[in-house]
Amino acid sequence: MTDFENLKNVCSSCTKCELSKTRTNVVFGRGSSNPDLLFIGEAPGKNEDEQGIPFCGRAGDNLNKLLEENNVDINKIFIANILKCRPPENRDPKNEEMELCTPYLIEQIKLLKPKIICTLGNFSSKFVLANGNIKEMKKIEGITQIHGKLIEINFQGVDVKVVPIYHPAAIIYRRHLKDDFFSDFKIINNLLKEEN
Ligand code: SF4
Repeated sequence: MTDFENLKNVCSSCTKCELSKTRTNVVFGRGSSNPDLLFIGEAPGKNEDEQGIPFCGRAGDNLNKLLEENNVDINKIFIANILKCRPPENRDPKNEEMELCTPYLIEQIKLLKPKIICTLGNFSSKFVLANGNIKEMKKIEGITQIHGKLIEINFQGVDVKVVPIYHPAAIIYRRHLKDDFFSDFKIINNLLKEEN
């Protein structure tokens, strides 16, 4: 068994926080074990919790559309979340939940070694940047300020390019963010073309 499969097994039976009592499935993530691009969202929603797969609801439809429009090779991506279990009523993750759960994500990043990370929304953007050695940024700002920017970091030994974009769920209810969601991804698409 690979280290990654082992990590998935441990995570799949995790009871470290109270979300283990209300979840249906642990949503570890899906995709390539050698991805060029890693998407990191916030937490599973209702559909994801029921199916054990990240981004399979309406937000997932938006993410799939983004991938299709940009002809992204889905065999070269991985999709994960900050929290692996659904917070009830899709409330925001609590600090203690993130502290207990993010060691899984950190290990995922170290094992997957993606070339590019696309953080989806505020929680994942702040987490990745706060835990990375940022070369050129004095203060970590919110998604409104940093969406669409390329930020080079060293994430615990992994050199990676980070581009935050709005969360695909955010554009369901805030339609004015939709244009930014799609245009911000173009920088990632260009990076992917450079890699290949
Ligand atoms: S959210 Fe994370 S820490 Fe909490 S039970 Fe699920 S896998 Fe474990």
